Amino acid sequence: MEINSHYTDRANGLGFSVENMDPSADAAQDFYRFAAGRWLDQTVIPDTEGQINGFKRLYLLVNQQILALLHHAAENSVHAPKGSVEQQVGDFFASAMDTQRLEELGIAPLQPEFERIEAIATPAELATTVAHLMSISGSPILLTPYVLADRKKSDVNTLGIYPGGLSLGNRDLYLNEAYAPLRAAFLEHLARMLQLTGISDAVAAQQAQTIVDLETALAQAKLSPVEASNPETTYNKMAVAELQAMIPHFELGTFFARFGLSTDQEVIVSEPDYVRALDALLVERPIEDFKVYLRWMLLSGTAHYLSPAIAEANLDFFVKKLQGTPELLPREQRVAAQIQNGFGHPVAQLYVKEYFSPETRAQVSDIVEQIKAQFEARLRTNPWLDRPTRAFALDKLRRMVIRVGQPEKWIDYSSVEIRRDDYLGNVMRLNQFDITRNLAKAGNPVINDEFAIPGATLPTDINAAYQPSANKIEICAAILQPPFFDPTLDAAVNYGTLGAVIGHEMTHGFDSIGRHFDAAGNMTDWWTANDTEEFEAFTNKLIEQYSQYEALPGVYVNGKLNVTENTADLGGVVLAFNALKEALAGQPTPDKIDGYSPEERFFIAWAQLWMSKERPEVLKLMISSDPHPPSEFRATGPLVNLDEFFTAFNIQPGNRMWREEAERVQIW
Ligand SMILES: [Zn+2]
Repeated sequence: MEINSHYTDRANGLGFSVENMDPSADAAQDFYRFAAGRWLDQTVIPDTEGQINGFKRLYLLVNQQILALLHHAAENSVHAPKGSVEQQVGDFFASAMDTQRLEELGIAPLQPEFERIEAIATPAELATTVAHLMSISGSPILLTPYVLADRKKSDVNTLGIYPGGLSLGNRDLYLNEAYAPLRAAFLEHLARMLQLTGISDAVAAQQAQTIVDLETALAQAKLSPVEASNPETTYNKMAVAELQAMIPHFELGTFFARFGLSTDQEVIVSEPDYVRALDALLVERPIEDFKVYLRWMLLSGTAHYLSPAIAEANLDFFVKKLQGTPELLPREQRVAAQIQNGFGHPVAQLYVKEYFSPETRAQVSDIVEQIKAQFEARLRTNPWLDRPTRAFALDKLRRMVIRVGQPEKWIDYSSVEIRRDDYLGNVMRLNQFDITRNLAKAGNPVINDEFAIPGATLPTDINAAYQPSANKIEICAAILQPPFFDPTLDAAVNYGTLGAVIGHEMTHGFDSIGRHFDAAGNMTDWWTANDTEEFEAFTNKLIEQYSQYEALPGVYVNGKLNVTENTADLGGVVLAFNALKEALAGQPTPDKIDGYSPEERFFIAWAQLWMSKERPEVLKLMISSDPHPPSEFRATGPLVNLDEFFTAFNIQPGNRMWREEAERVQIW
């Protein structure tokens, strides 16, 4: 197998380069333009994407790396022992690429499930069927059980009850007048998809309206993203009997039974008002409406795994229309992404063997230690923390667990039957395995799976993540490549990218959410009243700063929604910059590289990490629901709070980038 294990492509913008800069721009007036102007001028968003940036480019590269592994596995899986990673991954991929068989099958694989839905006659049958469909499709429908460490008793797993998902993902899309045209397009899309299941145009149009009405009511009942991020309001612990009293028209007994869950336990309900609203809908609306809805949720959750015609009809709306993307990625790339996400650990096992080296792990672990030492030193000399809070913070940082690259122990999928001729069946069996495995943890001591959250912490994800209830950071193997980390470049660049990303994750332990959790991951208040007041004064300044940024004409950044990420970005930059200063201290002044000092390169590298272009559709969605602000403001927002930034580029009062000293904020 021929795969490049080390790949840098600076000319294409994957990584730091002075070629990305616009030297004619004035750093003091428009730093983003100065650091990334040429890249912004020359980069075109590919027809298959809603945005393009370092994350996306690396994602596409990793997708290609995985694709090569999948092809290789599919060629060899026939000879591999049944249940081995090679057999399972290879046959899974082969089943997905057998498009002739998938076309022949068409909608047929869903027929038994449609019949099951049609047969629902009682509330008990409705509850069982919802549970069944969730188990096989993996989609959260109406009411979602999921087990996590108890936020207030972090060594025990507790069953959480969450709202179901919305087809459009984002509640705003149902409620905000500005999205009316999109809703109209969604209605048409629903009708088209329902027709593909063999029902008449007229009935399909009627059912589409029912689905939109029902989802709009569900959207109204949900918390906004800002409200949902409050760890106190979403912690409502109660007996199942109490939950049942809130939703008397949904039989929790049969619902729990289908999942293999006992009703004799306490659950944490994230949104009680949603539960009550769902109950009201179950009374107001005929059971037929819910059957229509379940058909759709099943279809949309499994469309990817049916015939290419059905899969593409669905993506036509969700990718092209919703993100304004003219073209779909080739099927094999889409399949690679699905398998990477849905069969995470087995694919990751193949990935790290090929693309993640012990050297990288050692180098990154070293940067982690330096950033951590810097954080500790800053906590000791912190000018605003009272003594008890400081001691607690130091203990929390010391006990923070940081894992680099991959888990010690992989999840064992060998018992799941993966067949070469059954794509949908493979997916359904995997979903069933994952959900059963998760729910079986309820009430048991926490033994955390590592690197196991699809789309967030798989070793193949382009991400690093802090988990408050475990006080743990996982830095995925796939992110340890350019533009995030490049051992061939100078320290200033690597501190300005990966160093700041690590500092960002550490700071999440001390942001507006993380600060509510202690060293063991329990939600407790370990702050003096005085320190809480000081902290909130700082974060209010950050909210104010970012709320002034105009992302699109008349559309401003939601400083409240973004406050945790902005706190983390600021912390990350401050920690990494000071760690760099410390690493350079006592050494002879390094030569300029490409004409820039280490300080300058640090700030340019940070800004280049966030250079990005988005289609307006994507940007609008980000502003309304993404906890991160748009990239341009990630690039410059933290920097204008550092005195050293103004010094490095000789930025003076009156310059556009200038920020008065009294307005600058540093929290950690
Ligand atoms: Zn973050």
